[in-house]
Amino acid sequence: MSYIKVNQDKVNDKIAKELIDICPFNAFEYTDAYLSINASCKICKLCVKKGPDGVCEFIESKKELIDKSRYKGIAVFVEIHNQHAHPVSWELIGKAKELKAKTNEKVFAIVIGDQVNHIAEEALTYGVDEVFLYDDPMFKDFNVEIYTNVIETFYKAYQNNVILYGSTPLGRSFAPRIAARLKTGLTADCTMLDITHDGELLQIRPAFGGNIMAKINTPNHRPQMATIRYKMFNAPKIGNPFGKINYEKTDGIINKTGIKLLETLHKPVISDLSDAEIIIAVGRAFKKQKDLELIEPLRKRLNAEIGCTRPLIENGWFDPRKQIGLSGRTVKPKLIINLGISGAVQFIEGMKESDLIITVNSDIHNKLFDISHYSIVGDIYEVLPELNILIDQILEENYEL
Ligand SMILES: Cc1cc2nc3c(=O)[nH]c(=O)nc-3n(C[C@H](O)[C@H](O)[C@H](O)COP(=O)(O)OP(=O)(O)OC[C@H]3O[C@@H](n4cnc5c(N)ncnc54)[C@H](O)[C@@H]3O)c2cc1C
Repeated sequence: MSYIKVNQDKVNDKIAKELIDICPFNAFEYTDAYLSINASCKICKLCVKKGPDGVCEFIESKKELIDKSRYKGIAVFVEIHNQHAHPVSWELIGKAKELKAKTNEKVFAIVIGDQVNHIAEEALTYGVDEVFLYDDPMFKDFNVEIYTNVIETFYKAYQNNVILYGSTPLGRSFAPRIAARLKTGLTADCTMLDITHDGELLQIRPAFGGNIMAKINTPNHRPQMATIRYKMFNAPKIGNPFGKINYEKTDGIINKTGIKLLETLHKPVISDLSDAEIIIAVGRAFKKQKDLELIEPLRKRLNAEIGCTRPLIENGWFDPRKQIGLSGRTVKPKLIINLGISGAVQFIEGMKESDLIITVNSDIHNKLFDISHYSIVGDIYEVLPELNILIDQILEENYEL
């Protein structure tokens, strides 16, 4: 660990006072002619740079660097629910294949479950090079402790450069546990990924309320791990498989667990905005909740789902699951119609990948216009009745829904 060393032979009362005054963290303590540094020190090095010459010294400890050439392959954990893979897994394979184009690494899928050979075969149709299949009755239900043991076994055997997980409720509980077990980093909720030619994964996600995009990397630990939101990337087109399935031994995997599954309760199936093909998104331009009735004819005609901005959730007008954006759902419909929405970065991040974007706003400088295929400058109360006709024209010209 790096630290600041105080050369006591150069310290006197005057110098001690000077250093105490310089330090913004009150990290110096001067007792009995001895100047020490307490735990408040942030190693900002002000005392080294601005303090009296040679009194404080920055001692940098040498890091043991890992041999990065030992780690190969971009692996995706395939999340399974009721014998079906969560589609985020295929989206991650799509991204992994893009990354592979830069590093020439193989793309792997990790499939864990009971009687899930069909999922391993499905993974091959998305163009993975190798599937690692851990198929055993002990993996029937997701158990974070046992599944962590599986990933640990997998990683120890194959030493992957990267492992990716969906940013689903399951992925969000699973990936941090693996990161702790493998003593590596994890970036949660990435919205973008990139990789350098020598295999450094750039994990990109909004930070500080979406005001900046943070680029995070894991310079000295492996595997590099990230969870990624659903609907951020495209699943690859299904093709003829060329990869192979590795049937992994499971007898050495520890299945001791403190978790006991008592009962599985199935939630009622409700439509998820993330899966909607057509969305009408509404914003604060709607003055009263009753005014939302104005969108009903268009909604019915297009068989659209309604999404909204955060203020409308805060008003209590919609269920929170209808919120689009960074702190809501990411959507990627074939068509989205934005009505009276300012286009704050937190909203745009959740819908910018939509196929066809139509925006209505009274402000000609509206930010959503920059990413829209059709921009209508006008008052929603006046435009909405006309929108039925306009939509017909737009769709006829451009789009098959
Ligand atoms: C940490 C954090 C996370 C957030 N997460 C999200 C999130 O996930 N999703 C989200 O939506 N927001 C989120 N927000 C809030 C976000 O910053 C914006 O405040 C919010 O998106 C604004 O909603 P709005 O566009 O509906 O309202 P406003 O900003 O009030 O915009 C209203 C728009 O309607 C237009 N307008 C007004 N009257 C009419 C009219 N009659 N006809 C046509 N146009 C009209 C105006 O020109 C304006 O563009 C988050 C904020 C923070 C700090």
